[in-house]
Amino acid sequence: MRIVLLGAPGSGKGTQAKLLAARQGLAHISTGDLLRAAVAEGSELGNKVKAVLEAGELVSDDLMLDLLRERLSQPDCARGFLLDGYPRNDAQAKALDALLVDIRADLDRAVLIEVSEALLIKRLTGRLTCGDCGAVFNIHTHPPEKDGVCDSCGSSNLQHRSDDTEETVAKRLAIYREQTRPVIDYYAARDQLVEVEGEGSLEEVQGRMNQALGLD
Ligand code: AMP
Repeated sequence: MRIVLLGAPGSGKGTQAKLLAARQGLAHISTGDLLRAAVAEGSELGNKVKAVLEAGELVSDDLMLDLLRERLSQPDCARGFLLDGYPRNDAQAKALDALLVDIRADLDRAVLIEVSEALLIKRLTGRLTCGDCGAVFNIHTHPPEKDGVCDSCGSSNLQHRSDDTEETVAKRLAIYREQTRPVIDYYAARDQLVEVEGEGSLEEVQGRMNQALGLD
């Protein structure tokens, strides 16, 4: 199964992608995670993109395509993959189509997770991620049981993402509206789009995703 997951920053794409990928044995490819890992490593790519990420802007299409091509060539993608954070504009959607032709793979579905903008802002500005195991919490909607401590691994390394400040969040949402929304029509026009209501509990959204993909 090969899936593109669409939705605004804060729509829950990453959380749902992790669950679905684990359950279906798919590679979860989060382009944001790949870029953040490059920044944390201090690699050449990381140094190039650090300022762009912090400003909430998009990394260049050419760089993203190189990164994706390399990632899709890894063996864990052979059983299928779930793209989380790519494509983010029309040019990337077209580049993905060409790349899939090159590697002789078809896309099964594009899944859109829809969430109101008010909730997106609340989720993003309150988001905390465990720096050790990657578990995600939210100070407003899903706080850790013990203040400052990860429920999953017990670490006290809960971090606020540097691009989750109010100013950067506003910028990322504007880019989503202007550049990423048109990608939804791109897949709808080809009858590949399914929409999922993204408000409610993690389990509710997961149930809707499974239903939309015919997995239950
Ligand atoms: P995300 O974790 O998906 O919210 O991505 C975090 C940041 O990484 C974005 O705000 C962009 O700066 C960058 N990024 C992630 N995916 C892409 C992409 N497909 N194209 C350009 N920039 C991206």
